[in-house]
Amino acid sequence: MVSGAVTAPWEAECRRCLGPAQGGLEARVRELFEPDADLEETYRLGGEQLDLEPLARDAVLLELPLAALCSEGCLGLCPTCGANLNGGGCACPPASADPRWAALDSLRGQGE
Ligand SMILES: [Zn+2]
Ligand SMILES: [Zn+2]
Repeated sequence: MVSGAVTAPWEAECRRCLGPAQGGLEARVRELFEPDADLEETYRLGGEQLDLEPLARDAVLLELPLAALCSEGCLGLCPTCGANLNGGGCACPPASADPRWAALDSLRGQGE
């Protein structure tokens, strides 16, 4: 039985702004190694030494963030011009701009 913690740094692309995102993870592991491993449930015990690499790789993959963010408050990219809004924004109008409503907005503008 192997128990312990696996720690690793990770780097990825921010899901919102596509900038660099990074962090660290820690995975707690408690796994059984057997000479006749059924590879779904346990790890293979070969000889006198444990090969911890498959265990560490599996643990790290499970802990990786599904949606990496450069920061919790990342503002992402402008849906109109693609500017990185973390850098102070862009000149586009506020994002009520659903194209399905744009026609109505222009009608309303004419009536006033
Ligand atoms: Zn970001
Ligand atoms: Zn913009």
